[in-house]
Amino acid sequence: MNKPKEKPGTASLNSLDDITLFTDPVDLTSYRRDASSASPGKPDAVVRPQTTDAVVNILKHANKDRVPVYARGGASMYAGGVNPQAGGIVLDMAGLDRILDIDLERGIVLCQPGVRFGALLKALRPHGQTVGLVPSTAPSATVGGAVSSHALGTGSPQFQSMGDQVAGLEVVLANGDRVQTGSAAAPGTGHFQRYCIGPDLTGLFIGADGTLGVIVAVALWLHPLPAARQTTCYGFPDAKSIEKCLLDIQARELVNNIWYGGAYEAPAVKTRISQAFPDKPLDDLPSFALAIDFRGEAHHIEEDETQIAAIVKNCNGEHFPDFNEAYFNKLRTDEIYWYSYAGFFALSRCAILMSSLPTNKLSTFMTVIAKQREDYPEYPLGAAIVMCRRGLHGGVLSFYDEATQWQSANAAMKQCTDTLVKAGIVPYKSGKVSAEQVTGFSAYASLLQRLKSELDPNGILSPGDLGLVQKSPYLAETTP
Ligand SMILES: Cc1cc2nc3c(=O)[nH]c(=O)nc-3n(C[C@H](O)[C@H](O)[C@H](O)COP(=O)(O)OP(=O)(O)OC[C@H]3O[C@@H](n4cnc5c(N)ncnc54)[C@H](O)[C@@H]3O)c2cc1C
Repeated sequence: MNKPKEKPGTASLNSLDDITLFTDPVDLTSYRRDASSASPGKPDAVVRPQTTDAVVNILKHANKDRVPVYARGGASMYAGGVNPQAGGIVLDMAGLDRILDIDLERGIVLCQPGVRFGALLKALRPHGQTVGLVPSTAPSATVGGAVSSHALGTGSPQFQSMGDQVAGLEVVLANGDRVQTGSAAAPGTGHFQRYCIGPDLTGLFIGADGTLGVIVAVALWLHPLPAARQTTCYGFPDAKSIEKCLLDIQARELVNNIWYGGAYEAPAVKTRISQAFPDKPLDDLPSFALAIDFRGEAHHIEEDETQIAAIVKNCNGEHFPDFNEAYFNKLRTDEIYWYSYAGFFALSRCAILMSSLPTNKLSTFMTVIAKQREDYPEYPLGAAIVMCRRGLHGGVLSFYDEATQWQSANAAMKQCTDTLVKAGIVPYKSGKVSAEQVTGFSAYASLLQRLKSELDPNGILSPGDLGLVQKSPYLAETTP
């Protein structure tokens, strides 16, 4: 029987160049979890590399000793991806935070993975440029984290997902090998085309939660800053009407000038209106609001808005300017969404479950949410619907008291995930939270496992994420 290797000694990690090493238990405390309700882990060490060579050396070192390595960006994900479930090393990518190149001719920005979206947008603004996808956690979320968890939301009506905005990557594999993907695989060529030499190896690492390699550079497509922006809201009597409207908008591709689109249900509508207009009657408010943040040339926005207003009317909806004034316009134009979301976590903990659904399943999604509310009245539940170019992104937010309800709230969310999957809705940002469901997709899970075995035979990269766990002496000793 293989004897378990020694846990990573501070002394041996200390010998590496260009790193900051944390082993003090107090420092390690803040590296135990992300924004999710997933079980926290317990790292043995946190290493913050400052160079790509340092990442190479850390991985070679960890691979030799079979020590788990969890790459971590801003830790704002809600799927437990960064939680060091098997102990080992948390690889804090914050030290790799340089923008390497803004190439206006190729239309590409090349940056290190620890660059935060807030910093990236600020650097691009003087060039009149921006990137297609921006998570609403922009001040803290990193580019590497967003790519590894295929972020979406702002930019999705136009560009679908963060993954679709990646022109190429540089990745360090578990054995320390450096690989460039896309056109940059050809030496001296650089990034300008993702799909060229052969299959899409860039895609292997997008959404992989750090299980197949550590991303050390990301090339993203640039887009010109929009000339104009405008927000508009519409009200609908029921889920079927808003579903029909969204299907029609997507089918006619009236999304090219939509920067963000979200659907809000009755409780959110009522709360926002009553807060802003205490004297307004609440009885005849719409059951759903569709809120759209347009961006583009003013005349294009005007044309799209006219066509969308006609579709809305045809789907039993109407303009809902109160919701825009009370909430949505300020949320989007002042970009206060991050601070608004922070309230979720200030009062209690929030378990977030994310899913992807075809647009024609919006009413099914809402039926599952209604049943969940009925079955688990003890956890206030919110639903968040985000529009993509095709399909939707459906979030379920459940609030619980950490001290008394944590385990039962997670059990309730698991039940919700299972029901959604049975209804033809799939987990999104799987991490550890939906690992069990991913393992159930047998042919897909088996291919994923084979890729994992090939790329990371010792199973050191993010064990537990996506249900991928390799047998290693270190893990046998540390996992329950
Ligand atoms: C209130 C709230 C609102 C949110 N809104 C949005 C939203 O609008 N859209 C959206 O998409 N998400 C949203 N999120 C989720 C999250 O903020 C995003 O997914 C974000 O992009 C994650 O980035 P991060 O740097 O925090 O990643 P982390 O949480 O640090 O990591 C995410 C995953 O990527 C892996 N990883 C990180 N860096 C690397 C690397 N260099 N190489 C390999 N793997 C790596 C980690 O191991 C982990 O599995 C929200 C979260 C909260 C709490």
